[in-house]
Amino acid sequence: MTTTPKTTANVVIVGAGLAGLFTALKLSPQPVTVVSGAALGEGASSAWAQGGIAAAVGNDDTPDAHANDTIAAGAGIVDEGVARLIAGDARQRIDDLLAYDVPFDRDQDGRYVLSREAAHSVKRVVRVQGDRAGHAIMSALIATVRATPSITILEGYEAQELITSGDGPQQRVTGLYLARADDAAARYKVTDLSSAVLATGGIGALYRLTTNPSHARGDGLAIGARAGAIVSDAEFVQFHPTAIDVEQDPAPLATEALRGEGATLVDASGRRFMVDIHKDAELAPRDIVARAVHNQIATGNGCFLDCTQAIGQEFANRFPTVYRRCMEAGIDPSIEPIPVAPAEHYHMGGLRTDASGRTNVDGLWAVGEVAATGLHGANRLASNSLLEAVVMAARAADDIAKTVSSDTQPTTGTVSRERSTHLPDFGARAAGLAMIRETMSSNAGVERDDARLRQALATLKDIAEAGHGDPVIENATIAARFIVEAALRRRESRGGHARTDYPDTDPEQARSRTMTLAGLTLRDSLASGELFSEITAGGGTLH
Ligand SMILES: Cc1cc2nc3c(=O)[nH]c(=O)nc-3n(C[C@H](O)[C@H](O)[C@H](O)COP(=O)(O)OP(=O)(O)OC[C@H]3O[C@@H](n4cnc5c(N)ncnc54)[C@H](O)[C@@H]3O)c2cc1C
Repeated sequence: MTTTPKTTANVVIVGAGLAGLFTALKLSPQPVTVVSGAALGEGASSAWAQGGIAAAVGNDDTPDAHANDTIAAGAGIVDEGVARLIAGDARQRIDDLLAYDVPFDRDQDGRYVLSREAAHSVKRVVRVQGDRAGHAIMSALIATVRATPSITILEGYEAQELITSGDGPQQRVTGLYLARADDAAARYKVTDLSSAVLATGGIGALYRLTTNPSHARGDGLAIGARAGAIVSDAEFVQFHPTAIDVEQDPAPLATEALRGEGATLVDASGRRFMVDIHKDAELAPRDIVARAVHNQIATGNGCFLDCTQAIGQEFANRFPTVYRRCMEAGIDPSIEPIPVAPAEHYHMGGLRTDASGRTNVDGLWAVGEVAATGLHGANRLASNSLLEAVVMAARAADDIAKTVSSDTQPTTGTVSRERSTHLPDFGARAAGLAMIRETMSSNAGVERDDARLRQALATLKDIAEAGHGDPVIENATIAARFIVEAALRRRESRGGHARTDYPDTDPEQARSRTMTLAGLTLRDSLASGELFSEITAGGGTLH
Protein backbone atom coordinates (compact mmCIF):
# COMPACT_ATOMS: atom_id res chain seq x y z
CA MET A 1 0.00 0.00 0.00
CA THR A 2 1.31 3.43 -0.95
CA THR A 3 1.89 5.77 1.97
CA THR A 4 0.73 9.36 1.79
CA PRO A 5 3.72 11.56 0.91
CA LYS A 6 4.69 14.60 2.92
CA THR A 7 5.57 18.05 1.73
CA THR A 8 7.44 20.63 3.73
CA ALA A 9 6.84 23.41 1.25
CA ASN A 10 4.11 25.75 0.12
CA VAL A 11 5.63 25.99 -3.34
CA VAL A 12 5.02 23.05 -5.67
CA ILE A 13 6.74 22.57 -9.02
CA VAL A 14 5.04 20.12 -11.37
CA GLY A 15 7.55 18.51 -13.72
CA ALA A 16 11.19 17.50 -13.32
CA GLY A 17 12.74 18.38 -16.65
CA LEU A 18 15.30 21.15 -17.00
CA ALA A 19 12.73 23.89 -16.33
CA GLY A 20 11.33 22.30 -13.16
CA LEU A 21 14.66 21.27 -11.62
CA PHE A 22 16.34 24.59 -12.41
CA THR A 23 13.44 26.46 -10.77
CA ALA A 24 13.79 24.27 -7.67
CA LEU A 25 17.56 24.86 -7.47
CA LYS A 26 17.21 28.58 -7.99
CA LEU A 27 14.63 28.76 -5.17
CA SER A 28 16.95 26.94 -2.77
CA PRO A 29 17.24 27.23 0.24
CA GLN A 30 13.52 28.02 0.18
CA PRO A 31 11.66 24.71 0.58
CA VAL A 32 9.94 23.42 -2.56
CA THR A 33 8.29 20.17 -3.58
CA VAL A 34 8.90 18.83 -7.08
CA VAL A 35 6.23 16.49 -8.45
CA SER A 36 7.32 14.22 -11.27
CA GLY A 37 5.15 11.76 -13.15
CA ALA A 38 8.21 9.61 -13.82
CA ALA A 39 11.42 8.80 -11.95
CA LEU A 40 13.86 11.75 -12.10
CA GLY A 41 15.66 11.78 -15.43
CA GLU A 42 12.94 9.76 -17.16
CA GLY A 43 9.90 11.09 -18.98
CA ALA A 44 11.58 14.44 -19.70
CA SER A 45 12.53 15.72 -23.17
CA SER A 46 15.35 17.61 -21.49
CA ALA A 47 17.33 14.41 -20.96
CA TRP A 48 17.03 13.58 -24.66
CA ALA A 49 18.30 16.88 -26.06
CA GLN A 50 21.19 16.30 -28.41
CA GLY A 51 22.27 19.62 -29.92
CA GLY A 52 22.75 21.75 -26.82
CA ILE A 53 21.94 25.28 -25.64
CA ALA A 54 22.00 28.35 -27.86
CA ALA A 55 23.95 31.13 -26.17
CA ALA A 56 25.97 34.05 -27.55
CA VAL A 57 29.26 33.09 -25.87
CA GLY A 58 31.50 32.97 -28.96
CA ASN A 59 33.94 35.79 -29.80
CA ASP A 60 32.11 36.49 -33.06
CA ASP A 61 28.67 36.64 -31.42
CA THR A 62 26.46 39.01 -29.42
CA PRO A 63 23.12 38.65 -27.60
CA ASP A 64 21.66 41.08 -30.14
CA ALA A 65 22.72 38.87 -33.05
CA HIS A 66 21.18 35.87 -31.26
CA ALA A 67 17.94 37.78 -30.69
CA ASN A 68 17.88 38.88 -34.35
CA ASP A 69 18.18 35.27 -35.57
CA THR A 70 15.42 34.26 -33.13
CA ILE A 71 13.14 37.02 -34.42
CA ALA A 72 13.83 36.11 -38.07
CA ALA A 73 13.14 32.39 -37.49
CA GLY A 74 9.90 33.14 -35.61
CA ALA A 75 8.14 34.29 -38.81
CA GLY A 76 6.89 37.70 -37.74
CA ILE A 77 5.40 37.07 -34.31
CA VAL A 78 8.32 36.80 -31.89
CA ASP A 79 8.04 39.19 -28.95
CA GLU A 80 11.18 41.21 -29.62
CA GLY A 81 11.59 42.38 -26.03
CA VAL A 82 11.42 38.80 -24.75
CA ALA A 83 13.92 37.61 -27.39
CA ARG A 84 16.45 40.29 -26.33
CA LEU A 85 15.91 39.59 -22.66
CA ILE A 86 16.38 35.81 -22.98
CA ALA A 87 19.40 36.10 -25.30
CA GLY A 88 20.85 38.64 -22.86
CA ASP A 89 20.52 36.31 -19.82
CA ALA A 90 22.12 33.36 -21.66
CA ARG A 91 25.73 33.73 -20.54
CA GLN A 92 24.78 33.96 -16.85
CA ARG A 93 22.69 30.81 -17.07
CA ILE A 94 25.49 28.91 -18.83
CA ASP A 95 27.75 29.99 -15.95
CA ASP A 96 25.14 28.61 -13.52
CA LEU A 97 25.13 25.27 -15.33
CA LEU A 98 28.94 25.16 -15.17
CA ALA A 99 28.66 25.75 -11.43
CA TYR A 100 26.33 22.72 -11.26
CA ASP A 101 29.17 20.74 -12.93
CA VAL A 102 27.78 20.45 -16.45
CA PRO A 103 30.83 19.36 -18.52
CA PHE A 104 30.38 21.57 -21.61
CA ASP A 105 32.82 20.83 -24.45
CA ARG A 106 35.79 23.25 -24.34
CA ASP A 107 38.98 23.61 -26.34
CA GLN A 108 42.51 23.66 -24.91
CA ASP A 109 42.20 27.37 -24.13
CA GLY A 110 38.97 26.83 -22.19
CA ARG A 111 36.75 28.31 -24.90
CA TYR A 112 33.39 26.65 -25.57
CA VAL A 113 33.29 24.37 -28.61
CA LEU A 114 30.21 25.63 -30.44
CA SER A 115 27.95 23.90 -32.99
CA ARG A 116 26.18 25.55 -35.89
CA GLU A 117 22.47 24.78 -36.30
CA ALA A 118 19.85 25.83 -38.85
CA ALA A 119 19.00 29.55 -39.11
CA HIS A 120 21.74 30.60 -36.67
CA SER A 121 24.05 33.12 -38.37
CA VAL A 122 27.10 31.86 -36.43
CA LYS A 123 28.21 28.79 -34.47
CA ARG A 124 26.30 29.34 -31.23
CA VAL A 125 25.22 26.08 -29.61
CA VAL A 126 27.04 25.06 -26.43
CA ARG A 127 27.25 21.27 -26.34
CA VAL A 128 28.45 18.27 -24.34
CA GLN A 129 30.36 15.31 -25.79
CA GLY A 130 29.01 16.01 -29.26
CA ASP A 131 25.33 15.06 -28.96
CA ARG A 132 24.95 14.28 -25.24
CA ALA A 133 23.95 17.73 -23.95
CA GLY A 134 20.56 16.79 -22.50
CA HIS A 135 21.80 13.68 -20.73
CA ALA A 136 24.82 15.47 -19.25
CA ILE A 137 22.88 18.56 -18.13
CA MET A 138 20.13 16.51 -16.52
CA SER A 139 22.58 14.14 -14.78
CA ALA A 140 24.40 17.11 -13.25
CA LEU A 141 21.16 18.79 -12.14
CA ILE A 142 19.63 15.62 -10.72
CA ALA A 143 22.74 15.00 -8.63
CA THR A 144 22.60 18.59 -7.32
CA VAL A 145 18.85 18.41 -6.64
CA ARG A 146 19.20 15.13 -4.73
CA ALA A 147 21.91 16.74 -2.59
CA THR A 148 19.79 19.84 -1.84
CA PRO A 149 17.89 19.38 1.45
CA SER A 150 15.31 22.12 0.69
CA ILE A 151 13.93 20.12 -2.28
CA THR A 152 11.39 17.35 -1.64
CA ILE A 153 10.77 15.11 -4.64
CA LEU A 154 7.53 13.20 -5.21
CA GLU A 155 8.38 10.71 -7.96
CA GLY A 156 5.66 8.78 -9.73
CA TYR A 157 2.91 11.33 -8.94
CA GLU A 158 1.02 12.85 -11.86
CA ALA A 159 -0.72 16.19 -11.48
CA GLN A 160 -4.30 16.13 -12.73
CA GLU A 161 -5.98 19.35 -11.67
CA LEU A 162 -5.26 22.61 -9.87
CA ILE A 163 -7.42 23.74 -6.95
CA THR A 164 -8.27 27.44 -6.89
CA SER A 165 -10.18 29.71 -4.54
CA GLY A 166 -12.04 32.96 -5.22
CA ASP A 167 -13.48 34.26 -8.46
CA GLY A 168 -12.38 36.70 -11.14
CA PRO A 169 -9.37 38.81 -10.13
CA GLN A 170 -9.50 37.25 -6.63
CA GLN A 171 -9.02 33.73 -8.01
CA ARG A 172 -5.78 32.11 -6.90
CA VAL A 173 -4.16 28.69 -6.87
CA THR A 174 -4.27 26.98 -3.48
CA GLY A 175 -3.60 23.33 -4.25
CA LEU A 176 -3.64 20.48 -6.70
CA TYR A 177 -4.75 16.90 -7.20
CA LEU A 178 -2.23 14.16 -7.93
CA ALA A 179 -2.60 10.54 -8.96
CA ARG A 180 -0.37 7.47 -8.91
CA ALA A 181 -0.53 4.76 -11.56
CA ASP A 182 -0.11 2.06 -8.88
CA ASP A 183 -2.87 3.45 -6.63
CA ALA A 184 -5.73 4.01 -9.06
CA ALA A 185 -8.42 3.97 -6.35
CA ALA A 186 -7.02 7.10 -4.73
CA ARG A 187 -6.13 10.65 -5.51
CA TYR A 188 -3.85 12.88 -3.47
CA LYS A 189 -4.91 16.38 -2.52
CA VAL A 190 -2.16 18.94 -1.94
CA THR A 191 -3.46 22.03 -0.11
CA ASP A 192 -2.25 25.28 1.45
CA LEU A 193 -0.03 26.20 -1.48
CA SER A 194 1.15 29.76 -2.03
CA SER A 195 2.60 29.09 -5.49
CA ALA A 196 2.43 26.41 -8.15
CA VAL A 197 4.79 26.18 -11.11
CA LEU A 198 3.79 24.13 -14.15
CA ALA A 199 6.89 22.73 -15.87
CA THR A 200 5.34 19.73 -17.58
CA GLY A 201 6.99 20.05 -21.02
CA GLY A 202 5.34 19.65 -24.40
CA ILE A 203 2.58 17.93 -26.30
CA GLY A 204 4.44 15.47 -28.56
CA ALA A 205 2.69 12.39 -27.19
CA LEU A 206 -0.57 13.74 -28.65
CA TYR A 207 0.91 12.83 -32.08
CA ARG A 208 1.53 9.36 -33.53
CA LEU A 209 5.03 10.25 -34.73
CA THR A 210 6.99 12.22 -32.14
CA THR A 211 10.47 12.62 -30.68
CA ASN A 212 8.99 13.38 -27.23
CA PRO A 213 8.60 11.00 -24.25
CA SER A 214 5.18 9.48 -23.59
CA HIS A 215 4.61 11.86 -20.64
CA ALA A 216 4.46 14.84 -23.02
CA ARG A 217 0.66 14.78 -23.30
CA GLY A 218 0.06 18.49 -22.74
CA ASP A 219 -1.15 17.90 -19.17
CA GLY A 220 0.19 21.23 -17.93
CA LEU A 221 -1.43 23.13 -20.77
CA ALA A 222 -4.83 21.62 -19.96
CA ILE A 223 -4.42 21.84 -16.17
CA GLY A 224 -3.46 25.51 -16.40
CA ALA A 225 -6.26 26.32 -18.85
CA ARG A 226 -8.81 24.58 -16.62
CA ALA A 227 -7.74 26.90 -13.80
CA GLY A 228 -8.34 29.93 -16.05
CA ALA A 229 -4.86 30.47 -17.52
CA ILE A 230 -4.65 32.06 -20.97
CA VAL A 231 -3.29 29.88 -23.79
CA SER A 232 -1.29 31.51 -26.55
CA ASP A 233 -0.32 30.45 -30.09
CA ALA A 234 -1.41 26.83 -29.67
CA GLU A 235 -1.46 26.24 -33.45
CA PHE A 236 2.32 26.55 -33.71
CA VAL A 237 3.74 23.04 -33.45
CA GLN A 238 7.27 22.34 -34.64
CA PHE A 239 7.94 19.14 -36.57
CA HIS A 240 11.57 18.07 -36.61
CA PRO A 241 12.54 17.20 -40.18
CA THR A 242 14.92 14.38 -39.33
CA ALA A 243 13.42 11.90 -36.90
CA ILE A 244 14.95 8.51 -37.65
CA ASP A 245 12.17 6.61 -39.43
CA VAL A 246 12.56 3.08 -38.07
CA GLU A 247 9.07 2.53 -36.60
CA GLN A 248 10.08 3.22 -33.01
CA ASP A 249 7.86 5.10 -30.57
CA PRO A 250 9.04 7.69 -29.69
CA ALA A 251 11.09 8.17 -32.84
CA PRO A 252 14.84 8.64 -32.24
CA LEU A 253 16.26 11.94 -33.43
CA ALA A 254 19.05 12.70 -35.88
CA THR A 255 20.19 16.04 -34.48
CA GLU A 256 20.26 19.14 -36.67
CA ALA A 257 23.96 19.50 -35.84
CA LEU A 258 24.54 16.71 -38.39
CA ARG A 259 23.26 19.04 -41.11
CA GLY A 260 25.33 21.80 -39.52
CA GLU A 261 28.36 19.58 -40.16
CA GLY A 262 27.41 19.18 -43.82
CA ALA A 263 25.11 16.11 -43.91
CA THR A 264 22.67 16.32 -46.84
CA LEU A 265 19.04 15.37 -47.40
CA VAL A 266 18.51 13.12 -50.41
CA ASP A 267 15.63 11.20 -51.95
CA ALA A 268 15.71 7.47 -52.71
CA SER A 269 17.61 8.13 -55.94
CA GLY A 270 20.29 10.11 -54.06
CA ARG A 271 19.12 13.52 -55.38
CA ARG A 272 19.80 16.42 -53.00
CA PHE A 273 16.43 18.21 -53.07
CA MET A 274 16.82 21.07 -50.54
CA VAL A 275 19.11 23.05 -52.87
CA ASP A 276 16.09 23.64 -55.15
CA ILE A 277 13.87 24.80 -52.29
CA HIS A 278 15.85 27.30 -50.18
CA LYS A 279 19.08 29.25 -50.48
CA ASP A 280 20.31 27.75 -47.20
CA ALA A 281 19.43 24.24 -48.43
CA GLU A 282 19.53 21.77 -45.47
CA LEU A 283 20.09 24.67 -43.03
CA ALA A 284 16.86 26.47 -43.98
CA PRO A 285 14.42 27.11 -41.10
CA ARG A 286 12.99 23.93 -39.60
CA ASP A 287 9.45 24.37 -40.87
CA ILE A 288 10.63 24.66 -44.46
CA VAL A 289 12.86 21.59 -44.22
CA ALA A 290 10.11 19.61 -42.43
CA ARG A 291 7.55 20.39 -45.17
CA ALA A 292 10.05 19.48 -47.89
CA VAL A 293 10.77 16.13 -46.20
CA HIS A 294 7.02 15.57 -45.68
CA ASN A 295 6.36 16.19 -49.38
CA GLN A 296 9.19 13.91 -50.52
CA ILE A 297 7.69 11.09 -48.48
CA ALA A 298 4.08 11.90 -49.51
CA THR A 299 5.02 11.77 -53.19
CA GLY A 300 6.75 8.40 -52.74
CA ASN A 301 10.32 9.67 -53.25
CA GLY A 302 11.47 8.74 -49.74
CA CYS A 303 13.88 10.82 -47.68
CA PHE A 304 17.30 10.06 -46.21
CA LEU A 305 19.95 11.96 -44.27
CA ASP A 306 23.30 11.24 -45.88
CA CYS A 307 26.16 11.69 -43.40
CA THR A 308 28.61 9.40 -45.18
CA GLN A 309 30.71 12.18 -46.74
CA ALA A 310 30.41 14.91 -44.09
CA ILE A 311 30.96 12.73 -41.02
CA GLY A 312 31.73 9.19 -42.23
CA GLN A 313 34.02 7.15 -39.99
CA GLU A 314 34.03 9.83 -37.26
CA PHE A 315 30.32 9.25 -36.62
CA ALA A 316 30.63 6.99 -33.55
CA ASN A 317 32.93 9.43 -31.77
CA ARG A 318 31.29 12.69 -32.72
CA PHE A 319 27.60 11.72 -32.48
CA PRO A 320 27.52 8.70 -30.16
CA THR A 321 23.79 8.90 -29.36
CA VAL A 322 22.62 9.04 -32.97
CA TYR A 323 25.15 6.36 -33.92
CA ARG A 324 23.86 4.00 -31.22
CA ARG A 325 20.19 4.57 -32.15
CA CYS A 326 20.94 3.92 -35.85
CA MET A 327 22.99 0.80 -35.17
CA GLU A 328 20.20 -0.54 -32.90
CA ALA A 329 17.91 -0.24 -35.95
CA GLY A 330 20.42 -2.00 -38.22
CA ILE A 331 21.66 1.15 -40.00
CA ASP A 332 25.36 2.07 -40.04
CA PRO A 333 25.21 5.87 -40.55
CA SER A 334 28.93 6.10 -41.33
CA ILE A 335 28.45 4.18 -44.59
CA GLU A 336 24.71 4.39 -45.44
CA PRO A 337 22.03 7.13 -45.48
CA ILE A 338 19.59 7.28 -42.54
CA PRO A 339 15.85 7.08 -43.39
CA VAL A 340 14.16 10.16 -41.88
CA ALA A 341 10.65 11.62 -41.49
CA PRO A 342 9.21 14.72 -39.79
CA ALA A 343 7.96 14.10 -36.24
CA GLU A 344 6.29 16.35 -33.67
CA HIS A 345 9.15 17.85 -31.69
CA TYR A 346 8.27 21.08 -29.93
CA HIS A 347 5.24 23.21 -29.02
CA MET A 348 5.79 26.93 -29.53
CA GLY A 349 2.36 27.65 -28.02
CA GLY A 350 1.46 27.20 -24.38
CA LEU A 351 0.34 28.99 -21.24
CA ARG A 352 0.88 32.71 -21.76
CA THR A 353 3.37 34.14 -19.29
CA ASP A 354 5.07 37.42 -18.66
CA ALA A 355 8.83 37.95 -18.37
CA SER A 356 8.77 36.42 -14.86
CA GLY A 357 6.97 33.25 -15.92
CA ARG A 358 3.69 34.40 -14.33
CA THR A 359 0.41 33.38 -15.87
CA ASN A 360 -2.72 35.51 -15.50
CA VAL A 361 -3.88 33.28 -12.58
CA ASP A 362 -2.66 34.42 -9.19
CA GLY A 363 -0.16 31.98 -7.69
CA LEU A 364 0.45 30.15 -10.97
CA TRP A 365 3.71 30.25 -12.95
CA ALA A 366 4.62 28.26 -16.08
CA VAL A 367 8.16 27.61 -17.29
CA GLY A 368 9.81 25.62 -20.06
CA GLU A 369 8.00 24.15 -23.03
CA VAL A 370 4.53 24.32 -21.43
CA ALA A 371 4.80 28.12 -21.41
CA ALA A 372 4.50 30.62 -24.24
CA THR A 373 6.70 33.60 -23.45
CA GLY A 374 6.67 34.99 -27.00
CA LEU A 375 10.28 33.87 -27.66
CA HIS A 376 9.57 31.33 -30.38
CA GLY A 377 6.81 33.01 -32.36
CA ALA A 378 5.64 30.69 -35.13
CA ASN A 379 8.87 28.73 -35.38
CA ARG A 380 11.46 27.98 -32.70
CA LEU A 381 15.10 28.60 -33.51
CA ALA A 382 17.07 25.39 -32.84
CA SER A 383 18.44 24.99 -29.30
CA ASN A 384 16.53 28.00 -27.96
CA SER A 385 14.24 25.85 -25.80
CA LEU A 386 16.80 24.66 -23.26
CA LEU A 387 17.94 28.28 -23.04
CA GLU A 388 14.39 29.51 -22.48
CA ALA A 389 13.89 26.79 -19.85
CA VAL A 390 16.86 27.93 -17.72
CA VAL A 391 16.38 31.67 -18.22
CA MET A 392 12.67 31.60 -17.40
CA ALA A 393 13.16 29.15 -14.50
CA ALA A 394 15.61 31.59 -12.90
CA ARG A 395 13.26 34.53 -13.49
CA ALA A 396 10.25 32.65 -12.09
CA ALA A 397 12.25 31.57 -9.03
CA ASP A 398 13.22 35.19 -8.40
CA ASP A 399 9.61 36.30 -8.68
CA ILE A 400 8.30 33.51 -6.44
CA ALA A 401 10.99 34.20 -3.82
CA LYS A 402 9.84 37.84 -3.66
CA THR A 403 6.19 36.83 -3.36
CA VAL A 404 6.83 34.30 -0.63
CA SER A 405 9.19 36.48 1.39
CA SER A 406 6.46 39.12 1.51
CA ASP A 407 4.06 36.58 3.11
CA THR A 408 3.67 37.44 6.78
CA GLN A 409 2.87 33.90 7.82
CA PRO A 410 4.35 31.31 5.49
CA THR A 411 2.39 28.07 5.54
CA THR A 412 3.38 24.54 4.71
CA GLY A 413 1.46 22.51 2.15
CA THR A 414 -0.25 19.30 3.24
CA VAL A 415 -1.03 16.15 1.30
CA SER A 416 -4.03 13.93 1.98
CA ARG A 417 -5.17 10.73 0.28
CA GLU A 418 -8.79 10.61 -0.88
CA ARG A 419 -10.89 7.95 -2.51
CA SER A 420 -10.87 8.63 -6.26
CA THR A 421 -14.13 9.78 -7.80
CA HIS A 422 -13.38 7.74 -10.92
CA LEU A 423 -11.75 4.35 -11.36
CA PRO A 424 -9.84 4.53 -14.63
CA ASP A 425 -10.38 1.89 -17.28
CA PHE A 426 -6.75 1.59 -18.42
CA GLY A 427 -7.68 -0.24 -21.64
CA ALA A 428 -10.13 2.48 -22.67
CA ARG A 429 -7.59 5.15 -21.71
CA ALA A 430 -4.89 3.60 -23.91
CA ALA A 431 -7.35 3.28 -26.80
CA GLY A 432 -8.46 6.91 -26.35
CA LEU A 433 -4.87 8.19 -26.32
CA ALA A 434 -4.04 6.15 -29.44
CA MET A 435 -7.03 7.69 -31.22
CA ILE A 436 -5.97 11.20 -30.24
CA ARG A 437 -2.47 10.55 -31.62
CA GLU A 438 -3.79 9.19 -34.89
CA THR A 439 -6.22 12.09 -35.27
CA MET A 440 -3.63 14.76 -34.54
CA SER A 441 -1.02 13.29 -36.91
CA SER A 442 -3.50 12.80 -39.74
CA ASN A 443 -5.45 16.05 -39.35
CA ALA A 444 -3.36 18.60 -37.47
CA GLY A 445 0.15 17.64 -38.57
CA VAL A 446 2.78 19.14 -40.88
CA GLU A 447 0.03 20.30 -43.28
CA ARG A 448 -3.52 21.22 -42.30
CA ASP A 449 -6.76 22.33 -43.96
CA ASP A 450 -10.24 23.32 -42.87
CA ALA A 451 -11.90 19.94 -43.56
CA ARG A 452 -9.27 17.88 -41.74
CA LEU A 453 -9.18 20.22 -38.75
CA ARG A 454 -12.99 20.09 -38.43
CA GLN A 455 -12.79 16.30 -38.62
CA ALA A 456 -10.20 16.37 -35.83
CA LEU A 457 -12.50 18.50 -33.64
CA ALA A 458 -15.38 16.09 -34.15
CA THR A 459 -13.21 13.06 -33.31
CA LEU A 460 -11.74 14.77 -30.23
CA LYS A 461 -15.27 15.54 -29.02
CA ASP A 462 -16.22 11.86 -29.37
CA ILE A 463 -13.08 10.74 -27.53
CA ALA A 464 -13.73 13.28 -24.74
CA GLU A 465 -17.31 12.04 -24.34
CA ALA A 466 -16.25 8.39 -24.29
CA GLY A 467 -13.50 9.16 -21.75
CA HIS A 468 -15.60 11.51 -19.60
CA GLY A 469 -14.45 11.28 -15.96
CA ASP A 470 -10.95 10.05 -16.80
CA PRO A 471 -8.66 13.02 -16.02
CA VAL A 472 -5.94 11.77 -18.39
CA ILE A 473 -8.29 11.69 -21.39
CA GLU A 474 -9.94 14.94 -20.34
CA ASN A 475 -6.61 16.78 -20.15
CA ALA A 476 -5.28 15.25 -23.39
CA THR A 477 -8.40 16.14 -25.36
CA ILE A 478 -8.39 19.70 -23.98
CA ALA A 479 -4.73 20.20 -24.97
CA ALA A 480 -5.36 18.73 -28.44
CA ARG A 481 -8.45 20.83 -28.87
CA PHE A 482 -6.57 24.06 -28.21
CA ILE A 483 -4.13 23.17 -31.00
CA VAL A 484 -6.87 22.26 -33.48
CA GLU A 485 -9.13 25.24 -32.68
CA ALA A 486 -6.23 27.66 -33.02
CA ALA A 487 -5.10 26.02 -36.28
CA LEU A 488 -8.62 26.24 -37.65
CA ARG A 489 -8.84 29.92 -36.95
CA ARG A 490 -5.44 30.94 -38.31
CA ARG A 491 -6.38 31.19 -41.97
CA GLU A 492 -2.87 31.64 -43.33
CA SER A 493 0.42 29.76 -43.34
CA ARG A 494 3.13 30.99 -41.00
CA GLY A 495 6.15 29.21 -39.52
CA GLY A 496 5.20 25.78 -38.21
CA HIS A 497 1.54 26.26 -39.16
CA ALA A 498 1.00 25.31 -42.83
CA ARG A 499 -2.53 25.44 -44.27
CA THR A 500 -2.84 23.93 -47.76
CA ASP A 501 -6.08 25.92 -48.18
CA TYR A 502 -4.38 29.19 -47.09
CA PRO A 503 -0.80 28.70 -48.34
CA ASP A 504 0.26 32.36 -48.11
CA THR A 505 1.41 34.35 -45.13
CA ASP A 506 -1.03 37.20 -44.45
CA PRO A 507 0.66 40.34 -43.01
CA GLU A 508 -2.67 41.26 -41.37
CA GLN A 509 -2.37 38.16 -39.18
CA ALA A 510 1.18 38.87 -37.98
CA ARG A 511 0.29 38.68 -34.33
CA SER A 512 0.17 36.29 -31.44
CA ARG A 513 -3.32 35.04 -30.47
CA THR A 514 -4.72 33.93 -27.16
CA MET A 515 -7.59 31.72 -26.09
CA THR A 516 -9.17 30.54 -22.84
CA LEU A 517 -11.00 27.34 -22.03
CA ALA A 518 -13.98 29.40 -20.90
CA GLY A 519 -13.95 31.04 -24.33
CA LEU A 520 -13.96 27.69 -26.11
CA THR A 521 -16.75 26.41 -23.90
CA LEU A 522 -18.80 29.53 -24.47
CA ARG A 523 -18.23 29.19 -28.19
CA ASP A 524 -19.57 25.64 -27.99
CA SER A 525 -22.72 26.87 -26.36
CA LEU A 526 -23.16 29.70 -28.85
CA ALA A 527 -22.04 27.45 -31.73
CA SER A 528 -20.62 30.47 -33.49
CA GLY A 529 -18.38 33.47 -33.10
CA GLU A 530 -14.71 34.14 -32.88
CA LEU A 531 -13.81 34.43 -29.24
CA PHE A 532 -10.13 34.98 -29.67
CA SER A 533 -8.50 37.99 -28.16
CA GLU A 534 -5.44 39.14 -30.00
CA ILE A 535 -2.15 40.41 -28.70
CA THR A 536 0.02 42.27 -31.15
CA ALA A 537 3.64 41.19 -31.41
CA GLY A 538 5.71 42.94 -28.78
CA GLY A 539 2.73 43.77 -26.62
CA GLY A 540 2.08 40.45 -24.91
CA THR A 541 2.94 41.28 -21.32
CA LEU A 542 0.19 40.46 -18.88
CA HIS A 543 1.47 41.92 -15.63
C1 LIG B 1 14.85 14.27 -28.78
C2 LIG B 1 14.84 15.74 -28.43
C3 LIG B 1 15.97 16.52 -28.66
C4 LIG B 1 15.97 17.87 -28.35
N1 LIG B 1 17.12 18.60 -28.52
C5 LIG B 1 17.15 19.89 -28.09
C6 LIG B 1 18.37 20.63 -28.11
O1 LIG B 1 19.41 20.13 -28.49
N2 LIG B 1 18.33 21.92 -27.67
C7 LIG B 1 17.19 22.52 -27.22
O2 LIG B 1 17.22 23.69 -26.83
N3 LIG B 1 16.04 21.82 -27.17
C8 LIG B 1 16.00 20.53 -27.57
N4 LIG B 1 14.83 19.83 -27.50
C9 LIG B 1 13.67 20.46 -26.87
C10 LIG B 1 13.91 20.51 -25.36
O3 LIG B 1 14.51 19.31 -24.94
C11 LIG B 1 12.61 20.70 -24.59
O4 LIG B 1 11.84 21.73 -25.12
C12 LIG B 1 12.93 21.05 -23.13
O5 LIG B 1 13.79 20.06 -22.61
C13 LIG B 1 11.67 21.13 -22.32
O6 LIG B 1 12.04 21.17 -20.97
P1 LIG B 1 10.90 21.15 -19.88
O7 LIG B 1 11.60 21.12 -18.57
O8 LIG B 1 9.94 22.22 -20.17
O9 LIG B 1 10.12 19.77 -20.15
P2 LIG B 1 10.61 18.27 -20.03
O10 LIG B 1 12.08 18.16 -20.00
O11 LIG B 1 9.88 17.48 -21.05
O12 LIG B 1 10.11 17.83 -18.59
C14 LIG B 1 8.73 17.73 -18.31
C15 LIG B 1 8.56 17.06 -16.96
O13 LIG B 1 7.19 17.10 -16.60
C16 LIG B 1 6.77 15.80 -16.16
N5 LIG B 1 5.32 15.73 -16.34
C17 LIG B 1 4.59 15.83 -17.47
N6 LIG B 1 3.27 15.78 -17.17
C18 LIG B 1 3.19 15.66 -15.82
C19 LIG B 1 2.11 15.56 -14.89
N7 LIG B 1 0.83 15.58 -15.28
N8 LIG B 1 2.41 15.45 -13.57
C20 LIG B 1 3.69 15.43 -13.12
N9 LIG B 1 4.75 15.51 -13.95
C21 LIG B 1 4.50 15.63 -15.28
C22 LIG B 1 7.61 14.85 -17.01
O14 LIG B 1 7.66 13.55 -16.45
C23 LIG B 1 8.95 15.58 -16.94
O15 LIG B 1 9.58 15.33 -15.70
C24 LIG B 1 14.81 18.47 -27.82
C25 LIG B 1 13.67 17.70 -27.60
C26 LIG B 1 13.68 16.35 -27.89
C27 LIG B 1 12.45 15.53 -27.63
